Amino acid sequence: MDLCNLSVIKSVMADAGISFRKEFGQNFLTNRIIPEDIADNCADNPESLIIEIGPGIGCLTQELALRYKKVVAIEIDKGLIPVLGKTLAEYDNVTVINADVMKVDLAELVREYSDGMSVSVCANLPYYITTPILMRLLESGVKFSSITVMVQNEVASRLSAKAGSSDYGAITAVLGYYGSVRRLFKVSAGSFIPQPKVDSAVVRIDLYPEPKYSLKDEALFRSLIKAAFEQRRKTLINAVSSKISGVTKEKLISALCELGFDERIRGERLSTDDFASLANLLAE
Ligand code: SAM
Repeated sequence: MDLCNLSVIKSVMADAGISFRKEFGQNFLTNRIIPEDIADNCADNPESLIIEIGPGIGCLTQELALRYKKVVAIEIDKGLIPVLGKTLAEYDNVTVINADVMKVDLAELVREYSDGMSVSVCANLPYYITTPILMRLLESGVKFSSITVMVQNEVASRLSAKAGSSDYGAITAVLGYYGSVRRLFKVSAGSFIPQPKVDSAVVRIDLYPEPKYSLKDEALFRSLIKAAFEQRRKTLINAVSSKISGVTKEKLISALCELGFDERIRGERLSTDDFASLANLLAE
């Protein structure tokens, strides 16, 4: 069954007596090539466990099931669970869980299903909650090999931006701590039903197997980035010094000087490496 076919989507939903739920960010793919491309590119090892967030009626799920050893799909909308039972009936390597990805115990779920496999995440994310989901995955403590997600085009630009560019933001700097980000391809708004207002893009994050930096105080590193971008037009010193207790102007000037930066620099010019070095100097 082509689960990206518009008439199939409509009839499957009509049969189940359900309609698209805006509050769950339901924009389903209608162009078969897209889930094929995403599934082709989301993991390197066919023997992987893939965690999918938001299977919808299962168009990406079936492509994942064809390529990888095991798929666990987490769907919040209980109205879609019986639908998925039918659309994915022929794939015995898929488990669908009715849960909110923001509440599910990811570490426990991976322990239950991974059986020594490498684990990747793949999703056409609901746009209302993209960044919280990404942060939850990254902070879960699970050693994902990669996270491949479709997000709004402008969010994709932010996630993959270079330090100093206008798209660079707090999420970009934090992401750099966990892994390297690649923008894979753009997807036009016309590839979904209902059609969103903006285009989308797929990004892949390859997680570092071990942390790239040895941070003396991870909370300080995060607070520095948060404060720097809350007032990104201010100099780093002015944006940060009143916000984090114990981090005085004098300490910041001396740390920036030791790193070879002008004391008038703005936080948006610092890379993840720079924030890590600065946080370590300030933690001393
Ligand atoms: N994968 C399908 C596709 O590509 O056509 C649907 C993608 S749609 C953009 C997002 C999906 O995520 C919907 O099925 C929605 O119900 C589900 N969803 C939204 N919030 C969720 C949450 N917090 N936890 C799990 N699933 C969620």
